[in-house]
This record gives sequence, C-alpha cells and structure tokens, in this order.
Amino acid sequence: MNKNSIYGLTIEQLTEWLGQHGYKPYRASQVWNYLYRERVTAFTEMTDIKADCIELLTENFTIQTLREHVKQEASDGTVKFLFKLNDGNLIETVLMRHKYGLSVCVTTQVGCNIGCSFCASGLLTKTRDLSSGEIVEQIMNVQHHLDAVGEGEKVSHIVVMGIGEPFDNFENMIDFLKIMIDQKGLAIGSRHITVSTSGIVNKMYEFADVNIPVNLALSLHAPNNELRTKIMKINRAFPVEKLMDAINYYIEKTNRRITIEYILLKDVNDHVEEAVELAALFQDKKKKTYISLIPYNPVDEHSQYQRSDQESVLAFYDTLKKNGINCKIRQEHGTDIDAACGQLRSKQIKKDKNQSIKS
Ligand code: SAH
Ligand code: SF4
Repeated sequence: MNKNSIYGLTIEQLTEWLGQHGYKPYRASQVWNYLYRERVTAFTEMTDIKADCIELLTENFTIQTLREHVKQEASDGTVKFLFKLNDGNLIETVLMRHKYGLSVCVTTQVGCNIGCSFCASGLLTKTRDLSSGEIVEQIMNVQHHLDAVGEGEKVSHIVVMGIGEPFDNFENMIDFLKIMIDQKGLAIGSRHITVSTSGIVNKMYEFADVNIPVNLALSLHAPNNELRTKIMKINRAFPVEKLMDAINYYIEKTNRRITIEYILLKDVNDHVEEAVELAALFQDKKKKTYISLIPYNPVDEHSQYQRSDQESVLAFYDTLKKNGINCKIRQEHGTDIDAACGQLRSKQIKKDKNQSIKS
C-alpha cells in the first residue's frame, strides 16, 4: 500500500480520522505538536502517545516522503534543495534570506502544463500534481535543515512560486495553506504567504470565495493580448480583459491588494510604451494593486529571451511611478546558483540521464 504523508492532513482531518479509530480530539493536537513544534522525524519519537496509536499511525501514514537529492548554497545564503519523491520524481524548493525573515519558495506540481515560453518549468510537461503532504514536507524539510544548523531560525514567509501552476492543483494547495497558517502548527502569518498564478480565471474567482487571507500574485507579463499571447499561450484561454474582471472581483470580495508580476524581457515587453499601457490598465486600482518588476533569469533552452538592460528597467520603473503606480524591482536571490524557477531541476534531470546512459 502506498501510504500518504501525515503532513497532508489539516488538524480537522486528522482529528476526524483519529476519531473514527476511537481516539479523542486531543490526540490530534498532540500529534501536531510533535510534527510542527517538536519537529520529530519518526512516529516512534512521539513518546507521550500510546503504543497502539503510534502503531496505527505508522501503519497508515508516512512521516517522510521527500529525500534530499541535491542541496546548493549560494554566497548570499540562498539554499536550493532538490528533493526526490517516493516515485523518483524530482522537485525544487528554495530558501531565501531577506531583511524581514526567511522565505521558502515551494513547488506544487511535477512539471507544468501551462508552458510559458520563457520558463524552465514548462520545458518538462506535468507528470502529476503534488499531494498536500508533499507540499507541506518541503517547508518541513527546510525547517529541519534550519533546526540542524542550530541558530533557532524559523521559516517566516512562503511563496508558492516554484515549479507548477498552483491553481491547477487547487484543493491540495488550499489544504497546504490551511496547514501552514494553523495556530496549532507552524502558525505562519497568512499575510506572509503569497500564491502566484499564471491567471486561471475561474480559480481566481474560487480563491477569492474561499477567502483564506493570504496574498495573491498574478503573472501578467504583458499589458495587452497580442503580446501576452506571444509569451504565454494560456492567454488564449484567459485573455487580459477576463483577468481584469477577475482582479476586480478579487479586490471587491476580499478587500486585499493584489500583486501583478511582470518579468522584463529585453526588447519584448520592456519598452516605455508598454509601461504606459500597463499603468493605464491599473489606473483605477492604484490603491489595490502593486506591480512587481522581475529581472529575467535567462534559461538556456529559451535563448530568444534575454534580461533587460538596467537602463530599460529603470525607465520602465520610472514610467510606472510617474503614473502613480505602486511598484518595485524584485530583489534577486542565489544568482551564483541555478536561480531560475525550475532550472536546477531540469539541469539535474539531464545530468542524471547522462549518468545512467554512461553507466
Ligand atoms: N505558475 C505560477 C507560479 C510559478 S512561476 C505562475 O506562473 O505564476 C512563479 C513566477 O516566476 C511567475 O511570475 C513566473 O512568470 C516567474 N518566472 C518563471 N520563469 C522565470 C525566469 N526564468 N526568470 C524570472 N522569473 C520567472
Ligand atoms: Fe508554469 Fe508558471 Fe512556468 Fe508558466 S511561469 S510554465 S505557469 S511554472
């Protein structure tokens, strides 16, 4: 039997499951305390829990499904992990250091089917969705790494911006968020969590309705349909005007700000004209939007795209500012390791393949 990860259960789900097996609700709190506060790595370390309950948990769940395959550390403290899943697939997780805390970028799918033309993750089509447990375990593995370093550091922020489209794995992603913000677990502040989507419009509405108070980011990358369709084929299904309707709904429903992500691609979408067009698009939502300008991480297989030069980046930024738009140029992390989303994974897969051909 392929056992599920214990980390995939919300406290309500675990309480219900234990209840069905005759255990009182406080048992679930106890188990969670061991998982998220004591941070044990084996059921047998849950010493206050009765042997029959430990046996039941061991029979039905695993406590470790991810194995560390590669770990790269950059000079700025960024750590990139490649984890091997039970079925042998590789996923990527990144720990970043900021002035305000430690953030972790998590993966939600093995590969991605959206296939944006600039992205390394889209090079390998989706094999499968990650379970909620596999997403939670990425955070726990990073936290265990920090615990082992022994300086008492804690993951304080999460960005759902690794490999995959989180809104294409909606239910598991929502359970993951519930587990992360639960006061009985890691209790990560919901305002410290950001989920990024390429713009699956129907799910944007659903996300607004679910109303878990985490931040939403939308990968727009172009201010009009012609340009956006060229770089993101998903724009054919969900064009800019549909995205704007969904943004309006999200703002109205949640009263929260939404982040608009915009990768600057040299001579493609980085002209002042596009900045003017972008500013016009958000003119009536200045207070509720925030534009994050992202320096492009070049990907070998997408050599048609280069990073914008500094002059164009600043001109773009200034144009937005002059038009009263909230914006920032995103700080980069781990530039001396394979920093682009999905890049380490695709390189490692090639390397592993070559090795197996040789041996
Ligand atoms: N699938 C989701 C979340 C994962 S990608 C999405 O597309 O939003 C997270 C962010 O990284 C997106 O804004 C994406 O456009 C950006 N990204 C992808 N490849 C990149 C690259 N090579 N350089 C810089 N940003 C990249
Ligand atoms: Fe998928 Fe996001 Fe990469 Fe597009 S940018 S291919 S949606 S991971």
